[in-house]
Amino acid sequence: MDGINDTQVDVAYRFGSSWAHNIFANKLDGTPFSEAVKRDLMKWRTTTGGNEDVRKHLDTITYKQYIEGELVVGLICGASPDAVCARAGHSLVSPMNARATISFPGGNTTFARHLVRSLIPDSMAGDLNFADVLNHSMNFDALDKKDSPTRMRLNASVIRVEHAGSGVTVTYEKNGKLHRTRASAAVMASAGWMNRHIVADLPNDIRSAYDEFQYAPAMSVNVALTNWRFLYKLEAPAVRYFDGGFGWSCNIRQNMVAGPYHPPLHPDKPTVLTFYLGLYSTGLPAAEQGKRGREQMLATSYADYEQAIRKQMTMLFADAGFNPKKDIAGIILNRWGHARVLQPPGFYYGREGKPSAREIVQRGFGRIAIAHAELNGHQNATGALAQGKRAPEQLLAKEI
Ligand SMILES: Cc1cc2nc3c(=O)[nH]c(=O)nc-3n(C[C@H](O)[C@H](O)[C@H](O)COP(=O)(O)OP(=O)(O)OC[C@H]3O[C@@H](n4cnc5c(N)ncnc54)[C@H](O)[C@@H]3O)c2cc1C
Repeated sequence: MDGINDTQVDVAYRFGSSWAHNIFANKLDGTPFSEAVKRDLMKWRTTTGGNEDVRKHLDTITYKQYIEGELVVGLICGASPDAVCARAGHSLVSPMNARATISFPGGNTTFARHLVRSLIPDSMAGDLNFADVLNHSMNFDALDKKDSPTRMRLNASVIRVEHAGSGVTVTYEKNGKLHRTRASAAVMASAGWMNRHIVADLPNDIRSAYDEFQYAPAMSVNVALTNWRFLYKLEAPAVRYFDGGFGWSCNIRQNMVAGPYHPPLHPDKPTVLTFYLGLYSTGLPAAEQGKRGREQMLATSYADYEQAIRKQMTMLFADAGFNPKKDIAGIILNRWGHARVLQPPGFYYGREGKPSAREIVQRGFGRIAIAHAELNGHQNATGALAQGKRAPEQLLAKEI
């Protein structure tokens, strides 16, 4: 139903042809649910967090078992609640008093830019502070200088990594030519669907563990709007709906002001409306859901998606004055084939006393450490940064 950042902004929920605002903050007033369902929903919405023992228990059951046994509705991550562990679904529900989240202009690239600017000071003008890193452009010529202690090679695809002698050999392709370089150690920060193919001497236990990693697709859609007067009329920058049409939620982003960057915040000015879409099929095993969703997402034409989005927005917002011809300037589809690692029961802590696949991969081997966001379960920047810190520390502890 919801539970993600729904207390930090005004959210309008569509029930039939009417709207209810901020339903959990308003104790489900104005919703069509019975008193018993309202009680269960409030219990679900306010049961967040939990200690390690709770999280371990939630890793042993599906989210469907959790919400049917104890509560009523749930949330989905990559696959339907009958196929993902309850720990995954439960951890998505944010506490009622959670702080507002923000989106960087340009997305998570801001994290990467900050890291690059820290490692290679010449890569960007200005100081190492948030506003400067956000507002200056990257000097790509500075990234691969011969005498620099840190060098980054762009447009180079690694095709083979393996131990050789007392180090690691990395083979990569650039401009149609193969090159080889040596390192005393390597961190594989690319995702599992890549690492399993390019790390040539992967031990059998890690290779088998990687075979258990399955992925679900997701699609994020950005609709460029010439104005957002219709949302202003609705008194909500975010909406949720349950009509079985295209998606289930969309919202405009909270604007960020940093240094000279201060985008306009006015309902008659342009903005971007974002939809996130999961493509799951209830009742199938998680891996099958991922495969089918990916096929469906890649086989659907842009024209079909465009039509579905315009229809959905008209259905939701026509009463508030929305006119697709006048209000939509463009639509970008981001089709993301391996968006989410699927998290069936046992994903986090393993089953029957055996370690989970993610714990086995995370051990790395020899002089190769493995770090990518999916080892944390939900793929996000926080998990990616945590893994990026852990992996070199793991190598340093080996005193390589
Ligand atoms: C559309 C979209 C929206 C998102 N929104 C959010 C959000 O709002 N909040 C949030 O926290 N997270 C969000 N995420 C997720 C987050 O960006 C990822 O989980 C995170 O970037 C994963 O980090 P990573 O370091 O594990 O992998 P990546 O960021 O994927 O980095 C892996 C790098 O390895 C490189 N690589 C792969 N294979 C090779 C090879 N063979 N040779 C050389 N280089 C290679 C890739 O080019 C890439 O640069 C979003 C992701 C997408 C796609």
